Amino acid sequence: MKIVDVRSYTLKSPLGDQGFYASQESFSERSSCLVRIETDTGLVGWGEGGLWGAPEPVAAMIDHVLTPRIIGHNPLHMDVIWERLYAHIRDWGRQGTAVEAISGVDIACWDIAGQALQQPIHALLGGAYRDRVQSYATGGYYKGGPERWADTGLLKEEVARHLDNGFRALKIKVGLLSVAEDLARVKAARQVLDECAPSGTRFPYMVDANHAYPPHIAITVGRGLEEEGVLWFEEPVIPEDRKGYRQVAETLDVAIAAGECEHTRYCFRDLILDGCIDIAQPDICGTGGISEAVKIATLARTFGVQVIPHVWGSGIALAAALHFIASLPPSPHSANPLPALNEPMLEFDRNPNPLRDTLLRDPIALEDDGTVRIPQGPGLGISVDEDVVAQFGPK
Ligand SMILES: [Mg+2]
Repeated sequence: MKIVDVRSYTLKSPLGDQGFYASQESFSERSSCLVRIETDTGLVGWGEGGLWGAPEPVAAMIDHVLTPRIIGHNPLHMDVIWERLYAHIRDWGRQGTAVEAISGVDIACWDIAGQALQQPIHALLGGAYRDRVQSYATGGYYKGGPERWADTGLLKEEVARHLDNGFRALKIKVGLLSVAEDLARVKAARQVLDECAPSGTRFPYMVDANHAYPPHIAITVGRGLEEEGVLWFEEPVIPEDRKGYRQVAETLDVAIAAGECEHTRYCFRDLILDGCIDIAQPDICGTGGISEAVKIATLARTFGVQVIPHVWGSGIALAAALHFIASLPPSPHSANPLPALNEPMLEFDRNPNPLRDTLLRDPIALEDDGTVRIPQGPGLGISVDEDVVAQFGPK
């Protein structure tokens, strides 16, 4: 089997008055770079490259740099393709756009491999440890104008909505406001979670700063999070500051999570060996695809670091993450695996995104008990609606 055609697609969906903020950025649109690979047997695989930045550079990398190097190659040889592409971009593209582009190509190759062998990707990864996974709602962004960012009433309404929809775990944002205002938001969301949790239990609750703080402020915030029983503190400091990460991790009791800004096993090696994180969060569409995420997961587990991937993007990104999650063993092993304790969870973004909700003919959805089913069809186990690709593609 040979790759005969590679196409990239830049999809965009403006959010209008549904835009939102995290600590670093306003989000006025949702976007994805998709890649479609076709083989001489007629099989077609889909992938996605990149997180939230402009999709055009990723598409250009696929079109001008990667495509000429994979046409004519067997898509089942994912490792050979990956290593050759990475060797080509190593001198100038070890992080960022180039690796995001490789991620999309890699996912599409896995999709083809699964279809060729009539197996879901998780079967090709060695088998599934679960057929569904507990998901957590990623929400609690800053919405409305600046005058509403500190409005805990607005946040409480949103949290209640996620719980009504079946979620039993939640992550919210901090880092845009003063420490006091953000800790008030953290407390307000915790109150709603506790009111809805069965007596004597607490729902997993996580907080994400998107690297908003210098280390000494991150420690102050982290102590506030510990008072609220927060499970992990995500990206407390900038990814370049390994020493700051280590200082925060050594000082605080709350688990430190990071990885959505990191690319390839080499970045994760440094985060792990430097004692920066308790939980690694590789993003399949950013860190190098399924091939690289599997290597990162093995590396992390070897050093006692948990793996709970970061997930953003379209339904393709969600499906790729689900296959990867299915293949992660409970860590450490337990006769009674429990979400967040030794079981991975699915990050399920709850911000508006039609690329997530409409791209797949059978969209990935939340079950009543807060879990999401792992796709069981060949490859990614999805059917991409090319009418939707055309709808959100360049006009
Ligand atoms: Mg995050």
